[in-house]
Amino acid sequence: VTIGVARETAVGEQRVALTPETCRKFVAAGAQVRVERGLGAGAHISDAAFAEAGATLVDDAAAAVSGAALVLCVRPPDASRLQSLDAGAAVIGVLQPDADGARGEAITARGLLAFPLERLPRTTRAQAMDVLSSQAGMAGYKAVLIGAQLAPRFFPMLTTAAGTIRPSKVLVIGAGVAGLQAIATAKRLGAQVEGFDVRPETREQIESLGGRFLELGVSAAGEGGYARALTDDERAEQQRRLGEHLKSVDVLVCTAAVPGRPAPKIVTAAMVAGMRPGSVIVDLAAESGGNCEATRPGETSDVDGVTVAGPLDLASMGATHASEMFARNVFNFAQLLLVEGALAPDWNDELLAKTVWPARAAAEHAAT
Ligand code: NAD
Repeated sequence: VTIGVARETAVGEQRVALTPETCRKFVAAGAQVRVERGLGAGAHISDAAFAEAGATLVDDAAAAVSGAALVLCVRPPDASRLQSLDAGAAVIGVLQPDADGARGEAITARGLLAFPLERLPRTTRAQAMDVLSSQAGMAGYKAVLIGAQLAPRFFPMLTTAAGTIRPSKVLVIGAGVAGLQAIATAKRLGAQVEGFDVRPETREQIESLGGRFLELGVSAAGEGGYARALTDDERAEQQRRLGEHLKSVDVLVCTAAVPGRPAPKIVTAAMVAGMRPGSVIVDLAAESGGNCEATRPGETSDVDGVTVAGPLDLASMGATHASEMFARNVFNFAQLLLVEGALAPDWNDELLAKTVWPARAAAEHAAT
């Protein structure tokens, strides 16, 4: 099989879906790997490192992907990139085909076998392929570092000749993969950490990281280990208690999400107004609209003395390690598609059947 990897088309994307480590493994398994020159620049991986790992370096994106049976990417390729793929080629990456009509059409028009990794069922077997988890870990880590950077305070308690400094109080809303990494990171920096989630099982997870579970009187476990949306009454109760609590929080990190929906609005403008001047909000959910009403995605603003940051591309800020994990996830997923070096998806495998988009692509592919 020929595998093609071109530079990402999304603006500002620094991560890559192939590293020298995974390139070497693909080559060892009999694949030919074509890489566009400069592919790894954003993640500080040189062309020479890819060449040493057995890749053939080519001068432009079209030369990397045309003729390739398998194309790897991090973020969705733009429409012109999709046009340069061979009809019937398989594509693995975070493709979000439903988010953009033109992209979805280009995928169907080219008869591509698209595997949007965000659709991967989150079963135990899929964990090694789960890019949402691996990238959320980096995002949670970076969000806390941004909070520490913006805060006019220390995180740890300090006993100095100039007196004692009390530790910062950090609250993390949403204790999924990103939130738990945020809690662990804030704890390592010495803050007094609290976490909150609507899934009751997160209490134990937060406590095991040295955080305190913040009781807001709402529990909303949904299907498949995810949260469900709250009822109006539940939301009102959560907000009343949270607003009161936020008056004593120095750094708030928001990570709450409900699959397939805009981020839940949890922190109202009134709650922000009630926070102490100098406190900081880092809204990791900014990408899907934000958990805080005052968040402006991609910007950091001063809201009456409270700094509100809505950073985008958090995982991309840690491009080297994020790519290392992303590329391993992609390599592990690709193993489901390849049999003795050739593209031969087993459609009885639920991980493939549930990830492929559109769903009928599998049936059509099986028929050819
Ligand atoms: P996510 O990004 O969809 O959501 C982040 C968190 O926000 C979740 O913990 C959710 O409960 C929480 N949340 C939603 N609405 C909220 C509200 N109103 N207030 C407070 N918190 C709210 O989730 P994720 O991090 O991708 O995954 C969540 C969970 O899914 C994991 O912790 C795990 O239990 C499960 N999971 C399982 C696997 C696996 O087994 N392969 C892989 C990944 C995740």
